[in-house]
Amino acid sequence: MVEIRDLRVSYEGEEVLHGMDAHFPKGKISVIIGPNGSGKSTTIKAMMRLVASDSGSVEIDGEPVSSLSQTELARKMAYIPQGRNVPDITVNRMVMHGRFPYLSYPRRYRPEDHEMVRKALEWVGLTDLAHKKMSQLSGGQRQKVYLAMTLAQDTGVILMDEPTTYLDIRNQFELLDRARLLAKEGKTVIMILHDLESVLRYADHVVLMDSGSVTASGTASEVLASEALKKAFGIELSFIETEDGVHCFVKR
Ligand code: ADP
Repeated sequence: MVEIRDLRVSYEGEEVLHGMDAHFPKGKISVIIGPNGSGKSTTIKAMMRLVASDSGSVEIDGEPVSSLSQTELARKMAYIPQGRNVPDITVNRMVMHGRFPYLSYPRRYRPEDHEMVRKALEWVGLTDLAHKKMSQLSGGQRQKVYLAMTLAQDTGVILMDEPTTYLDIRNQFELLDRARLLAKEGKTVIMILHDLESVLRYADHVVLMDSGSVTASGTASEVLASEALKKAFGIELSFIETEDGVHCFVKR
C-alpha cells in the first residue's frame, strides 16, 4: 500500500502539484489518468524522490520514503520511466541492473543474483534473447526487458510511466497481462495510461488528476463515468457492455 498525503511539488518556484492525496492498494493495478500536463509524471517522480517535494508525504506500508536511503528505496520501489534512450548493452546486463540495490561495494554478482536474473528473463519469455543488444530488440521486447529488470529488483511496488506507448495492440495486452500477474502476486502496481479502454479492462483502482490535483478516484467505471472526467478532458464517454466486458466510446 502506498499513500500520498498533501503532496506539493514546484518547478522553479511554480507549484504544479497542489496538495495531492491518493492511495494505491497492495495487490492491485492502480492507474493514474489525466490530461497532458496534469501532474501524473511529476507524482511518480516525487514518489521515487527524483523531484523534490515542497511538503507532504509518500509512505510505503506506513514508512515515509523520505526516511529511506537510496538503496532502501530501490529495494522497495522500482520505476520504469517513459520512452527512454536505448542503452548500448545486452539484455542480460540490463536486467542485472535490477540487482544493484542488493550488491555491496565493489559490485560483485552472487549466484543468487544470476538466478534472479535468469528467472526474470524466463518469466517475460526472453531467455533466448539474453545476449542480444537492447538496440536489436523491438519496442515490445524492450518493455519486457524493463519489466524483467523490475522483477530482478524484487520490489513490492512497481511504477510505470506510460508503459504501453509505442506498443502495438497485442504487445500492449501482453504487457498489461503481465502487470496483472504481478499484482496477483501481491505487488502494488501503479501506472500511467492514456488508453481508457485499457484502463477499463485492467485497472482495479483509478486516480484522476486535473491541473495538479486529484479530482476523482475509485473503480474504473466510477471514475470514467464521473463529472470530474468530463471536466478534465472536456469529453463525455458512453459505455456499452458486450460479452467480453465493458467498452467506452467518446460522445461528441
Ligand atoms: P503529465 O505527466 O500529467 O503530462 P507532468 O507531471 O509531466 O504532467 O507536468 C506537470 C506540469 O509540470 C506541467 O505544467 C509541466 O509543464 C510542468 N513540468 C514538468 N516537468 C517540468 C520541468 N522539468 N521543469 C519545469 N516544469 C515542468
